[in-house]
Amino acid sequence: MADTTNATLVDESGQGAMDLVIPRPCPNCGAIVNGKAALVDIPHFKEVAHLILDCSNCATRSETYKSGHRVEEKGTRITLNVESKRDFERKLLKGENCTIEIPSLGLEIPASTLPARFIPIADFLHRALTDILRQAQATGQGGNPELKQFVQKLMAFMDADLLPATMIFDDPAGNTYLESFSAPEVDPTIVTVEYERSVMQEALVGSSYDHTPI
Ligand SMILES: [Zn+2]
Repeated sequence: MADTTNATLVDESGQGAMDLVIPRPCPNCGAIVNGKAALVDIPHFKEVAHLILDCSNCATRSETYKSGHRVEEKGTRITLNVESKRDFERKLLKGENCTIEIPSLGLEIPASTLPARFIPIADFLHRALTDILRQAQATGQGGNPELKQFVQKLMAFMDADLLPATMIFDDPAGNTYLESFSAPEVDPTIVTVEYERSVMQEALVGSSYDHTPI
């Protein structure tokens, strides 16, 4: 990990400087290009690297967040009681292995839907919805009745029509964080539980991780 003295708090609103230049392979074409990175100090959590790569070879733009610890000792399961639209303003650092469930609606957003992101829950849900619809169109599933029902429920949830509801952020790599409105005091609407990974989860977080050094 690089020197952290000058770490700046940045998010996807574009605040903060990208202060490191790191050669990395493009995830699309494999060309080695100079990625830009900034260290993000997330209060009451940890420091992560925000990486942006604009490939000069194939014009792909990719963006992700990486934890200095790569994989934490334990997985985390964060439960949020969503009571009002204000809860959607909480910032979420979604780890790349994090699955999001809304059990009362029977909804699950798989970890693969979006790469690691540090954005408010509302923005995350919008991007996830866009991504799910794009994938459905690309595979000819756009008219699937189950998908339509999923989308309708998710949109109603995002409009705060189906509250209160519980959201569960389950990350076997332990790299997911949800903003508390009362830190460092306990926020009664968030419950975080650490757990030992199963053999399957251990294999998942070990093999899915991009081992390219930061
Ligand atoms: Zn490329």
